[in-house]
Amino acid sequence: MRLTLAAMLILVPTVALSAQTNVERVVNGAYSPSHDYDLIHQRIEVSGFDWDSTAFDGTVTTTVVARRPELEAVVLDMDWRLEVREVASVRGVALRFERPGDSLVVRPARPSAFGDTLRFTVRYRGRIAQGRGLYFFKEEPGRPHRPQQVYSGGGTDGNPRWIPTYGAPHDKATWELIATVPDRFTVVSNGRLVSDRKLKRGLRVTHWSQDKPASTYLISLVVAPLVKVSDRWRDVPVDYYVYPEDSALARPLFGLTPDMMETFTRLTGVRYPWPKYAQTTVTDFIGGMENLSAATLVDWLPDAVAYHDRPWYHHVLVPHELAHQWFGNLVTAENWANYWLNEGFAQFLPGQYWGAKQGRQAEDDYYLEEYQQFLARDTRRRMPLATYNSNNVYPKGALVLQMLKKHLGPERFWAAINRYLTRHAGGTATSDDLRQAVLDATGESMGWFWSQWIYQAGYPEFAVTARWDSAAAALTLDVRQTQRDTATADSSGFRFTTPPVFRAPVAIRVGTAAGEVVRRVVIDRREQPVRIDGVASAPTLVVFDDENAVVKTLAFDQPTSWLAALLARHPDLWNRSWAIGQLARRADDSLAGAALARAAGGADHPLTRAQAVLALAGFPAGVARPAVDAALGDTSARVRRAAVAALGGLGGEGAGAAAARVWREDPSYEVRAAALTALARLDPAGAREAVVRGIETPSYRDAIRNAAIAAAMQRPDPGLVAALERVAGTGELPVVALAVLAGRGDPPAKAAIGRLLDDRRGWVRAWARDAVEEAGAGAR
Ligand SMILES: [Zn+2]
Repeated sequence: MRLTLAAMLILVPTVALSAQTNVERVVNGAYSPSHDYDLIHQRIEVSGFDWDSTAFDGTVTTTVVARRPELEAVVLDMDWRLEVREVASVRGVALRFERPGDSLVVRPARPSAFGDTLRFTVRYRGRIAQGRGLYFFKEEPGRPHRPQQVYSGGGTDGNPRWIPTYGAPHDKATWELIATVPDRFTVVSNGRLVSDRKLKRGLRVTHWSQDKPASTYLISLVVAPLVKVSDRWRDVPVDYYVYPEDSALARPLFGLTPDMMETFTRLTGVRYPWPKYAQTTVTDFIGGMENLSAATLVDWLPDAVAYHDRPWYHHVLVPHELAHQWFGNLVTAENWANYWLNEGFAQFLPGQYWGAKQGRQAEDDYYLEEYQQFLARDTRRRMPLATYNSNNVYPKGALVLQMLKKHLGPERFWAAINRYLTRHAGGTATSDDLRQAVLDATGESMGWFWSQWIYQAGYPEFAVTARWDSAAAALTLDVRQTQRDTATADSSGFRFTTPPVFRAPVAIRVGTAAGEVVRRVVIDRREQPVRIDGVASAPTLVVFDDENAVVKTLAFDQPTSWLAALLARHPDLWNRSWAIGQLARRADDSLAGAALARAAGGADHPLTRAQAVLALAGFPAGVARPAVDAALGDTSARVRRAAVAALGGLGGEGAGAAAARVWREDPSYEVRAAALTALARLDPAGAREAVVRGIETPSYRDAIRNAAIAAAMQRPDPGLVAALERVAGTGELPVVALAVLAGRGDPPAKAAIGRLLDDRRGWVRAWARDAVEEAGAGAR
């Protein structure tokens, strides 16, 4: 799964765990609920979808095998709102059942023996609270890009809200899904298509079959007016299901999928494991969900212009959900305390894909973004990777796997991953199974690695100082680890630990006029001097962790000339980014400004150029402006965007005109949005016309409109308010902006909100109601 916004909510099991360590909790099954049958197969028939009452009819026939003698009841997970009408044996004999909480207890006519097979059918009417298991969307005349549809969602705990099943991931089963729907709709689900035929009375019945066992949280249903854009990888159908109006956008977005399948197959040594791969777009979705061989994705298909800005959907979401088809779907985390095995790998693999296609720096670039997200989350709450409800499974998972790959080297890493996937294919795994696979494939036990990176929290925070002894021709680094364990215990006395000492194998590179020395060293003490011999002349460059092999922060006060040398010469993007961060704090040092200006114009990767140009915003205009102005013409939109943002901060002669030119002429939405923000900052009065235009300019994900609205909020006037009202039907933000202005007492905004509350378009009225509620009573 890949969420666009907040983390998911998962219910915490009521298990007494206080006496255990986090390792014990995660690997010993404490989070794997017990049940006394084996789920074998489910035949799921759904029909009678009613968009007015958000309801449908369900008939689910379930086959289980008793896993203890004298089994008197089969307990399935099933939302209490689903109205069970009948439970019957296959011979049609009614069976007793009960509905305690969100479960269905089925009582067979007589107790089963160990190993007996039971089969029974549940008939029910599913009444759905919107978003609990299913999402219903009605046709709204005039509303763009939002056809009628219903789809399943809710991630790891959503399916028992619309079908009786066993919800936990560690019991795998096969299933069929047979949906009867109005015949203008297409039905997409898991596995292979068995049949799809029209019935009388304008209906169609579509039958999908998932023939290999898998976890039931991966069951999926999408019913919508869709067209299928067909592609192929080897002999596997690869299909993109989108609204008819989006059919031209599907191939540019999804067209790399076969190549990604080929690349992931090659890297893992495990062939794409399912009979087809479908990607289906739906409205108002959380982002993406890796439903088995039938990923569901939000309907934000980029247009041609949006590709200037490397859309997240294309760069991350598509390869992420595909990676889950191996990691999560073929090998599944045994329980949600090991969830990082699903999400960490899925977030790791896109970086491997782009690295394989575009080289080492594309890989660095990808993980640098994960690193920034990781630090931000870690600051909010410091949690280990492997634990229940960990807040950091995506970025930290990706980073820890990249670290493991750097430590083992790619050959041994992928051999270990192959071992992990083949050994657990069709089954489940815990974090310890990954350790075992690494041990078996490489001989490396690496106890320290698993302990500090998987089961404990935090990361090493290094503070380094350097001393050069010319007489001894030696450089000594005094390396300290300064991370502190400040976690508090929960009510049971349990707390996560941060290691006071991380073990960190690093390479240290020392440059001098006479050449370079690289020393490999293992940092494994809180305070540790590291002596590097053979440094006969004064160092000109010192790189701590030359390969960025360890996730860390680094405080290392260096001469500007060292930082400048690192930035100019080092290939690793993390190290460059670190140097830029150091140089950015030296705004009164002309050497620092010159180094950043050189990187802004000449660095061989756009991320470095963008970071350097942004850092220049804090420097005197005389130092910064020539480089910033030049960067406005960079070939990369990322750099131009950073340049125009820096320009907005710097100001000075001609800045407004330059920003206005970018606003008018740049091909990228994101760059134009940044230009509008800069323009509004540099020349608020002169920017007004551009802001009105910006409000009216459509762009991918409303990048331009959102920037214009933010600018309008700074200096609202009746003309801007009128512009906001004109685009109120296109998205929620203009309506929210009007409600906020109304709440501040702005009379035209109050009048506009009043009109929108009575708008003829239902969705606009709904947005206005929500916005007024949010903004407070003063809005109307
Ligand atoms: Zn995911």
